Amino acid sequence: MVVAGAGAIGSAVALRLLDDGAEVLLADPAPLAANASGVAAGMLAPAFEAVLDPLAAGHFELLKTARELWPALAARVGAELDRSGALWVGDEASNADMLKRLTGPGARAEGLDGAGARRSSPGLAAPQGAVFTPEDWTLDPAGMLAALRGAFEAAGGKVRAAAVTSWDAGTARLSDGGQARADALVLAAGLAAQGLDLPPPELAQLRPIKGQIVSLDAQAPRSGPVVRGEGVYLVPRASGPVAGATMEAGVRDLEVDPAAVQGLRSAAARLFPALAAAPVSGRAGVRASSPDGLPLVGRSLTPGAWLAMGARRNGWLLAPLVAELLAGQLAGAEDGHAARLFDPGRFTPD
Ligand SMILES: Cc1cc2nc3c(=O)[nH]c(=O)nc-3n(C[C@H](O)[C@H](O)[C@H](O)COP(=O)(O)OP(=O)(O)OC[C@H]3O[C@@H](n4cnc5c(N)ncnc54)[C@H](O)[C@@H]3O)c2cc1C
Repeated sequence: MVVAGAGAIGSAVALRLLDDGAEVLLADPAPLAANASGVAAGMLAPAFEAVLDPLAAGHFELLKTARELWPALAARVGAELDRSGALWVGDEASNADMLKRLTGPGARAEGLDGAGARRSSPGLAAPQGAVFTPEDWTLDPAGMLAALRGAFEAAGGKVRAAAVTSWDAGTARLSDGGQARADALVLAAGLAAQGLDLPPPELAQLRPIKGQIVSLDAQAPRSGPVVRGEGVYLVPRASGPVAGATMEAGVRDLEVDPAAVQGLRSAAARLFPALAAAPVSGRAGVRASSPDGLPLVGRSLTPGAWLAMGARRNGWLLAPLVAELLAGQLAGAEDGHAARLFDPGRFTPD
């Protein structure tokens, strides 16, 4: 099989297919982590995503199912997950509302007073308390991409620094002039298969959403829960916290806007006042979204091609679920609930 695209989704899919016994070539012209997956915050956040992203509303159980697949995948590639959970920090009314919205669909959550919130995240300004959920975890995106790649190559997977430029009758042509014979092509190319001569028609449904995110050069917080507040999240990392992110619908460039960078630092400093003067650097990535916010996963109208694209805000969270689904479908498994939700043909009239 040929997998086109080595972001979170393609890397997870390629490893899963290899582990299931297929010969797999993973093709991507970009350097490791030079994609949306490398820019991402790395949250595995079924609880807060189901509350804060309108298109993920109602999908807590689905997102939790995806999260539950992560411990096995992380163990498979020898990488760590951070299970410190996440906090919401607002005023009294917004904290009470958040507690209801989290627990309504079944997430575990509890209210904390100001002292409890500061104990769980030193340096946090939470005068009116916070809401904690243990449901949301994180991973380090660059580290996880490297771990996935390492495990794939160690198990005999082949990697090519080239784009797939055409697919016809079981032959994939590559931008380096080579070609590969394969039973199936899996397109895991994020928003668009760059340089592919006849992209599958289903991809016309995908739209870009640019996201800018900042790294703060600060000593704290470097561990502990993710902290979310109105219009911002802050992810502790060993190398310094990360704050994000803008949602710029319809925009696909990777320019970093100084005003967006300063805006994210100010928002982060409302949560952690000591960050007000922290040196800051910004990056941008482009998410791909379908009209209903769920990815396109499964058989394409293009013969022999399979899709694993359009994971919107949750590509990291969904990666092992997408890999499991696709591996099952390629092996002829019956469609289940997630497969029907992600069906690439769901927007195409019969
Ligand atoms: C600022 C920001 C923060 C985010 N935070 C989170 C988060 O906390 N948690 C979460 O789950 N998600 C998050 N996301 C979303 C997540 O990053 C995406 O959903 C995810 O990266 C999508 O992964 P992917 O593998 O589909 O695509 P990508 O990471 O975009 O990778 C696609 C790859 O395909 C390659 N490619 C393109 N065309 C071809 C071709 N013709 N042949 C071969 N290869 C090709 C590209 O070079 C690229 O490397 C965030 C996104 C942004 C922008």
